[in-house]
Amino acid sequence: MEKITAGDIRYADLAGKRFNKRFSGKPEYIVLPTTTTEVVIAVQEAVSNKRRPVVRSGGHCLEGFVSDPTAQVLIDTSLMTNVSYDADMGAFAVEAGATVGETYRRLFLGWGVVLPAGEHPGIGMGGHVLGGAFGFLCREHGLAADYLYAVEVVTVAASGQAVPIIATREVSDPNYDLWWAHTGAGGGNFGIVTRYWLRSPDATGTDPYTTLPAAPATITTFRVSWDWSLVNESTFSQLTSNFGAWAAQHSGPDSPFRQLFSILFLNHRNIGKLDIKGLATGPQAARLIEEHLADIVEPLGIAYTKQIEETPWLQFALNPFPELFQPGFDNALAKVKDAFFKRPFTDSQIATAYKYLTLAAPIGGGLGMATYGGKVNTIAPGATASAQRDSILDVACNTGWISPEGAAPSLEWVRNFYKDLFPGSGGVPVPNDQTDGAMINHPDTDLATAWNQSGVPWYTLYYKENYPRLQQVKAKWDPLNIFYHALSIRADQ
Ligand SMILES: Cc1cc2nc3c(=O)[nH]c(=O)nc-3n(C[C@H](O)[C@H](O)[C@H](O)COP(=O)(O)OP(=O)(O)OC[C@H]3O[C@@H](n4cnc5c(N)ncnc54)[C@H](O)[C@@H]3O)c2cc1C
Repeated sequence: MEKITAGDIRYADLAGKRFNKRFSGKPEYIVLPTTTTEVVIAVQEAVSNKRRPVVRSGGHCLEGFVSDPTAQVLIDTSLMTNVSYDADMGAFAVEAGATVGETYRRLFLGWGVVLPAGEHPGIGMGGHVLGGAFGFLCREHGLAADYLYAVEVVTVAASGQAVPIIATREVSDPNYDLWWAHTGAGGGNFGIVTRYWLRSPDATGTDPYTTLPAAPATITTFRVSWDWSLVNESTFSQLTSNFGAWAAQHSGPDSPFRQLFSILFLNHRNIGKLDIKGLATGPQAARLIEEHLADIVEPLGIAYTKQIEETPWLQFALNPFPELFQPGFDNALAKVKDAFFKRPFTDSQIATAYKYLTLAAPIGGGLGMATYGGKVNTIAPGATASAQRDSILDVACNTGWISPEGAAPSLEWVRNFYKDLFPGSGGVPVPNDQTDGAMINHPDTDLATAWNQSGVPWYTLYYKENYPRLQQVKAKWDPLNIFYHALSIRADQ
C-alpha cells in the first residue's frame, strides 16, 4: 500500500488534519487504506517493522492521542466512508471513516432513519461510536453505542499477526467481549475499527426502514441569549440553579421532556453573552420548549432575546447551530474538562463558576451544561462499556486560544476552575451522590496527573466498575499493547 511520506504533496495536509491544534505529530508515513484487508496489511507492516501505529478517523480527538510525536505510522481511515444496509447482518454497515454528518445523510436519504450520535457533523464515526457518543437525540433514543450490533476490528494477536475480527452483541458469540468493549471504551485501545453494524436493540426482522429509529420529521430549535452586562451574581445563580433543577426533574426515561435537549452556555464574561440553545422533536415540541423556558428563563426577570425555528431534520443535522461551529472554531488550541452530574450544582459550585467566569483575565471559554439522561439511563451500567447511566447533566469546562501566549493563562484558568468545582473530592468528579466521573469521548489527561488528588484513578472516573473487565478484554485482544495512548486501558494497571 502506498506510504505517504514527508516529501509527498499530501503529507502536510494529512499530518495536520486534526481539530485540536494543541497537538502535533510527525509520523514516518501515513497510509490511507480503503478496505479492511488494507488495514490488516498496514497494521502488519507497522508491527513487523516495530513501528508504533496510531489510527485516525475524523481527527476530532480532544487530546494528543493521535497527534503524538512518538507515533510512527498513521493509519487514516478517512477513505473508508461507505454506509449501506447489510441484509445478512440485519443492520446498517458504516465504515469507520464516515463522518457523523455523512452517516446522518446516508441513513436519512436512504431509509429515513437516524442513529442518535454527536453534535458536530465533522466528527469521525471511527473514534466516536466506540466511546459511547451522546448528542442532540440522546435523551429520546440513547447513545450511539447502544445501537452497536457488531463491530469489525483489526487486532494484533500474541504472535504479532494482524487479524480482522467481527464481534457481535449475540451472547453466544465467542468475540462478545470485544463487542462489549466497543460500546464505550474502544478508542485506540484494542485495535482498528474498520466497520460498525448498527441496529436498534429491539429491532426485529430485516426491514431497513425499522432497523434504526425513524428520523424526526422536523427539529424545533430554540436560542435564548442574555447580555452578560445585565447579569449579576444573583441572576447568574438563579439561572444555573433553575437549569439544574429542571434537569433533575425532567430527565427520567419516561419524561415527555426526553424529546427536548438543551445546553446552558455559561460563557466567560469576556464573550459578552450567556446562552441556552436546544431543540425538541415531536408534535409537542413547541409546548415542551415553552415550558422549559418558562421554568428556567422567565423567573430571572431580565431582558433576553429568544429565537425559535423549525427545520427539516437533515438540514439541521448537517449544520446544527451554525454560530457554534463558525469558520475558525476548528483552528483553535483547546482544552476540555468533562464531568457527569447526577444532581445539580450546589450553591457553592455555582459561586465558583461565577468567580471563574467573571475573573478579569484574557480568557476565552466557559462552562457548558448539557442535559443528559432520558433513554440513556434505561441501560444497566455494566450492559455496555458506557458505565454512567444515571446522570442528568454532562458538564464541561472549556477554553481555547489562538496565539501561543494564550496557552498558559487559559490552561491555568480552566484547570483551576474545574479543580475548584470539586473541593471535597480532590478536584475531580469522583463517583458519589452528586457526580459520576467523566466521559471518555471528552478525554482529559489531567485526570491521570496531580490535578487529580482524589485517590480515585483516572480509569475509575471514566469506566467505573467496568474497568477490570476492560483489562481482561485488553489482555486477550491486544496482548502486545500495540494500541495505546495517555489514557488507554492497560492490562496490568
Ligand atoms: C467539535 C467537537 C464536537 C464534539 N461533539 C461531541 C458530541 O456531541 N458527542 C460526543 O459523544 N462526543 C463529541 N465530541 C468528541 C468526539 O466524539 C471524540 O473526540 C471522538 O473520539 C472523535 O472521533 P474522531 O474519529 O473524529 O477522532 P480521531 O482524532 O480520529 O480519534 C479519536 C480517538 O479515537 C481513536 N480512533 C479513531 N478512529 C478509530 C478507529 N477506526 N478504531 C479505533 N480507534 C479509533 C483514535 O486513535 C483516538 O484515540 C466532539 C469533539 C469535538 C472536537
